[in-house]
Amino acid sequence: MTPETAQKILDEVYRNGDRMAILKELDPELRNGYVSVLCPDCRQRRAYAYQPGGKTPHVIRCNRQENCGYQATLVQYAAGTDKPRGPVLFSACTV
Ligand SMILES: [Zn+2]
Repeated sequence: MTPETAQKILDEVYRNGDRMAILKELDPELRNGYVSVLCPDCRQRRAYAYQPGGKTPHVIRCNRQENCGYQATLVQYAAGTDKPRGPVLFSACTV
């Protein structure tokens, strides 16, 4: 998979991916323009991901910047790694 192909897949996932399915283990709650979730790291309900059209719709971010600071893309979260590649990337994109 070329970097260009991987980026096209990621763009498609971030545009059309089912956030509620990707985030289902974090007890997602749909709010106005974003999804509120339990932080994957500190487990407090302080993390969120913007909906498509928001400023960083591909990122899950914890609001406890000083005590936690968790931040990952939806695909990094789904893959469980900072640098998903090959089959791991593919399976993370087909949640
Ligand atoms: Zn956190």
